[in-house]
Order: sequence, then structure tokens, then C-alpha cells
Amino acid sequence: MDISIIVPLYNEAESLPKLYEWIARVMKENKFSYEVIFVNDGSNDNSWEVITGLQAQNTDKNASVRGICFRRNYGKSAALYCGFKAAQGDVVITMDADLQDSPDEIPELYRMITEDGFDLVSGWKQKRYDNALTKNLPSKLFNATARKVTGIQLHDMNCGLKAYRKDVVKNIEVFSEMHRYIPYLAKNAGFTKIGEKVVQHRKREFGTSKFGINRFVNGYLDLMTLWFLNKFGKQPMHFFGLVGSLMFFIGFIAVLVVGGMKLYALSHGVQAMLVGVNPYFHIAILMMILGCMLFLAGFLAELVIRNSPSRNDYLIKEEI
Ligand code: UDP
Ligand code: MG
Repeated sequence: MDISIIVPLYNEAESLPKLYEWIARVMKENKFSYEVIFVNDGSNDNSWEVITGLQAQNTDKNASVRGICFRRNYGKSAALYCGFKAAQGDVVITMDADLQDSPDEIPELYRMITEDGFDLVSGWKQKRYDNALTKNLPSKLFNATARKVTGIQLHDMNCGLKAYRKDVVKNIEVFSEMHRYIPYLAKNAGFTKIGEKVVQHRKREFGTSKFGINRFVNGYLDLMTLWFLNKFGKQPMHFFGLVGSLMFFIGFIAVLVVGGMKLYALSHGVQAMLVGVNPYFHIAILMMILGCMLFLAGFLAELVIRNSPSRNDYLIKEEI
């Protein structure tokens, strides 16, 4: 099978028939064999009935319509995760269900993966039809930060329309709300040929956006988590141990200095502050305690990792 198209959706019943018809038309024109996997993320409208209807109507032998229905709403990442697990095509395309992404882009995305050798191609909504103030502007900031942190030069990291080599989706694990950073997950897994294609974007026709402005707060925190996991996830002691040791050392020296000055003053008969009321003494002790705690946190994290079943999971590219 050439292509798997994964469509995560939450309350998008009105858009689905048109979306499917459009996908089917493009696929037929390009003679692809394909499957569409609708992942119904706990919708409470009649999206699932629409999907079962689409499956029943399908007569094209080059096409299969599949559906996965969650019992409740788990979020877009969960939907993508299950779609990725189910996908069988050589190239996997993800797209939003709300008709904001155009299926006309699929043939070129497919070509970039199969002929140009990209592992992942992300869409870039260069001209966006969303609210300028609540979405486009924060999104620019968000992408600039993401480029700095991840080192991946994408203009639109969180674009719903993306294409992947099958290998990629079978070897990365999207979790919690990490769908925003799939290119980063791919890069960290060793899939480094990541490209970008300017894609058409359209206004939402039906329904409403499912993500509020808090996406940027959560998105930023998730980015920090991923960065930290990638850098120190396998060796937390390299972070906590270093910072903890440094703090302890500085605190220790400071205590020595405070004590030394007091002894010096005593031995020379000079009036000096009680050590117990000297603010530097308290700051120094605090640093030593915090240093010990950080060190201990690193140690505990190492113990946790020792028990992680994935501690020795490596992606092997080839063997001879
Ligand atoms: N979506 C989902 N589960 C959710 C929220 C959203 O599957 O909990 C789907 C949604 O139906 C759509 C896609 O994710 O197909 C992108 O959502 P939306 O269009 O609301 O995002 P925006 O375009 O506003 O970034
Ligand atoms: Mg949308």
C-alpha cells in the first residue's frame, strides 16, 4: 500500500464527508493505493456514524476506510499515536479533519518522501487563515523558540499536515501533548532528514477550533520537558549531580570563609558578629542543603532509569 492517511478528529461530523470525497478524488487521479484511518477522539456529535457510513459506501478496491473510536476524548496526540500504530502504507500522511489542510498537497508530499529521500516533511502554512492576534502572532514566537531549542529549521512545527516515511512513525512514540513536536521526536530518534513544504491553508468551514490560547503555555512547558529529556533523560546525574555538587561546594567554601573570619576576629580581639546572625552563614548553609538535595534527586532519578524497560532500546538502522 502506498499511503496511509491518518485523520484525528473531535466533533468534526460536518467536515468529514467533504474531506473524504476530496481525498478519494486526489488519490484516484494519482492512482495511489491507500487507506484512510479516521481516529475519532471521543466525539460527542455523530462523527462516528459518518465514519461508519463512509466505510460502508466505499467500493474502490484500491482504497480502504478504517476507523478507530475512543471511548472518551484523550487528545490529538493519543489519536495520532493509535493512527501511527495502525498505519500500513509506505508513506504516512497526517491531516486535520476540519478541511483547513488541503488533500491536493498529498501527491507532492508523497514524492518528497519517496524520491527526495526525506524522512519527514512538515507543512508550512505560509499564508494562514486563522485569527491573527490569538494564533498567528503567538505561533510565530512559538516557532522561533522551537527552532532555537530543537535546532530544526521549520517555520511551522505544529502543522497538522505532515508526511512520514513508515519507519519514522513506527519508531517514535507520541505521548501526552507532544504532537506539537513530532519533528523533534523524529530527530531525537535519528531521523534527521526533515523537510518542509509550503502548503495551502483554508478557513475553518464548520465547527470550532479545539485548542485555546493555553496551547502556547502548555506548548512551551512541553518543549522544555522534551529538551530536558533529550539532553539528560538517560543520564540525569549529569545535570543534578553537577548543579548539586557546585552548590554544595560554593556553600562549603562560604561556610569556611565565614568561620575563618570569625576565628580571625576572635584571635585578634576584634569585635565581630555572632556567626548565627550572619546572613552569609545562612545563605551558605542553605546552598549546602540544596546542593545535597539536588545530588540526591539525581541519584534517585538514576535508580528510576535503571528500572526503565526502555533503558537499552536502540534504533538499529542496518545490520549485516
Ligand atoms: N483534535 C482531536 N482531539 C482533540 C482536539 C482536536 O483529534 O482533543 C483534532 C481536531 O478535530 C482537528 C485537529 O485535531 O482535526 C486539529 O484541531 P483544530 O483544528 O481545533 O486545531 P487548530 O486548527 O485550531 O490548530
Ligand atoms: Mg484547524
